[in-house]
Amino acid sequence: MSTYFARSALLPGGVAENVLFTVDGGRISHIEVAAEPGSATVLAGLVVPGFANAHSHAFHRALRGRTHDGGGTFWTWREQMYRIAAALDPDSYYELARGVYGEMVLAGYTSVGEFHYLHHAPGGKPYAERNAMGEALRGAAKHAGIRLTLLDTCYLAGGIGQPLSHTQQRFSDGTADGWAARVAELAGDETTVIGGAVHSVRAVPAGQLATVAAATAGPLHVHLSEQQAENDQCLEAYGKTPTELLAGNGILDERTSLVHATHLTSADIATIGEHRCTACFCPSTEADLADGIGPARELVDAGARLSLGSDQHAAIDPLLELQRLEGGERLRTGHRGRFTPAELSTAAFADGHRSLGWDAGRLETGALADFLCLRTNSVRTAGTLPEQMLLAATAADVDTVVVGGKIIVRNGQHGRLGDVGALLHNACESLA
Ligand SMILES: [Zn+2]
Repeated sequence: MSTYFARSALLPGGVAENVLFTVDGGRISHIEVAAEPGSATVLAGLVVPGFANAHSHAFHRALRGRTHDGGGTFWTWREQMYRIAAALDPDSYYELARGVYGEMVLAGYTSVGEFHYLHHAPGGKPYAERNAMGEALRGAAKHAGIRLTLLDTCYLAGGIGQPLSHTQQRFSDGTADGWAARVAELAGDETTVIGGAVHSVRAVPAGQLATVAAATAGPLHVHLSEQQAENDQCLEAYGKTPTELLAGNGILDERTSLVHATHLTSADIATIGEHRCTACFCPSTEADLADGIGPARELVDAGARLSLGSDQHAAIDPLLELQRLEGGERLRTGHRGRFTPAELSTAAFADGHRSLGWDAGRLETGALADFLCLRTNSVRTAGTLPEQMLLAATAADVDTVVVGGKIIVRNGQHGRLGDVGALLHNACESLA
């Protein structure tokens, strides 16, 4: 058992002062407001739940700061990304992911949904241990101290009706049944949830979607309508939007996260809301890749939940994602306060964790003891109302991160990994 004392804390009912948390068995067992610190570990700033990173491709981190010359589009960026995908093996994947997950914990993320499709050796030959790449991610997450939802991704085609390219062959299990058989060999554990994913309507033929849905026990994620070209190809091939195609094949329900959801019709928005799906927005990536700004407010008004992800990791900062979600809404509508701070918190914390299958993201008795402390006296945060802190702070204000009741980050330093910048530098340089 351990105890933490927060000068202030974001509880479900709002910000409270002098809050004593008791942690037992990795969960919050008791909360006392207007308490005395006693012998508890004192957290001097604002304590909030851990952030959920609902969408990640760890290996894309190797492209940060290397793709900004020469213009291009999402599709030319993808060619650069494929060069990294072709170079990785289980050892280098582990090295890179360990640094990336370390960076995430330093930034305040306590869980990550890894949308993992880099399954086999280059050319598509399975490794002797068929899930060697997924296990590399599991090992990296454990070392970094972050909870992992391994969203093992079905990827079968190079586009609608298109063969796989050489690089894409290592993503594929041949058929959805082949994918399901490999995934069945993965088991969750205390810090790992196994989920499934459809890469996109581009990469999984319509006739195989239902197999993926049926074989996925946990969370189910899909890239949806990130680019208009995907919609155009889907309409041409199937006479349906990607949302309509997924709905007609049993993919959409409450466990489903639709990643990006950028280019939607009003009928798509209504369908996603009716099925109570989660729309996972990745604002830093969507800006970086010139995707566009999706209809977040309309989706919530229709009944959808929201989550946030750092996706290709042009930045790893959960506060930036949250601020850009609201900022994008303001830019496209000309109105401020499109989401209340409480709505933004729900997306970043509780609904994000829910989308990844974790009972976390709320400072409540019984929830997993995953939380962090933000400095309230930095040059960025001084003078800010605690209720609006999430709209002012950055990842640089994360002082302490606790996962399962254990301190992983203290004074902004990762206790186990040490110099995470050096780990990332070495991993990225060896791939470049
Ligand atoms: Zn993605």
